[in-house]
Amino acid sequence: MTPPEPTASPADFSLLILGGTSEAYQLAADLHGRADTGLRVISSLAGRTAQPRLPAGESRVGGFGGVAGLTAYLRAEHIDAVIDATHPFAGQMRWNAADACAAAGVPLLRLERPAWRAAPGDHWLEIDNWDEAVAHLAASAPATRRVLLALGRQELAPFAPLDHCHFVIRSVDAPDPQPPFAHAELVLARGPFSLADERELLLSHAIDTIICKNSGGGATDAKLAAARELGVRVLMRRRPPQPDSPRVASVAAAMQWVAARAGK
Ligand code: NAP
Repeated sequence: MTPPEPTASPADFSLLILGGTSEAYQLAADLHGRADTGLRVISSLAGRTAQPRLPAGESRVGGFGGVAGLTAYLRAEHIDAVIDATHPFAGQMRWNAADACAAAGVPLLRLERPAWRAAPGDHWLEIDNWDEAVAHLAASAPATRRVLLALGRQELAPFAPLDHCHFVIRSVDAPDPQPPFAHAELVLARGPFSLADERELLLSHAIDTIICKNSGGGATDAKLAAARELGVRVLMRRRPPQPDSPRVASVAAAMQWVAARAGK
């Protein structure tokens, strides 16, 4: 792959944010106000959505072409530091960032919101992949019959063969194509969701089990509080493994890390 042309820039410190999360947007917005101090901030988006919301300041869209492509980009753009603020379930980019930053000698920070933790009254079963969730649903038939799938629309297919379950699929966009479920209905909705909304959803669909990922954050955690109230079981997918990079859990801590390196 041909490395990108270096861009002329008077910046004395260039930061690359690997984004796609609310934390990455917030960090870019907070740092953007400092651009006049010689801090250059570039946000990178994978480009999964047709018309992504653009972060404040400079941005680029699309994959880099693996570790080699990212390493070449870091060198060509004279990047001084990288913050990997990709989603807790973006499983690949964190490894690419760790390898590319090591190769290019660039410091790397992982910004990741804290995971949700089970509280008293919760009925969680933690799983590492969807096959475990499918096996659990198959083994617990007929007690588990009405299931809310609160996960990505590309992640539905493993559940389609379970014809003893009625699935309520909540998604921002309709799955296209929708896997061949025997019994399923679609609820199109975008968070954040309130506790009242979630209680109503669980009750009106008589949900006995929720399947979701441990994304963390406040936009979609009300379903867990509603599940606790109503005694609904949760199959919670754990986060994927990650490299041993320094890590912070808040935008404020990431700002401090940048300030310490850039002297801003
Ligand atoms: P992934 O498995 O970690 O990454 C797959 C590939 O997508 C990477 O190898 C890289 O391609 C490209 N990529 C990922 N993030 C990128 C970024 N910020 N800038 C440029 N290229 C990027 O990630 P994913 O699960 O496919 O998610 C893609 C994006 O959606 C991420 O940015 C993530 O923050 C966001 N997102 C993901 C989820 C989720 O549940 N997975 C949820 C919400 C948002 P190259 O190897 O070609 O560089």
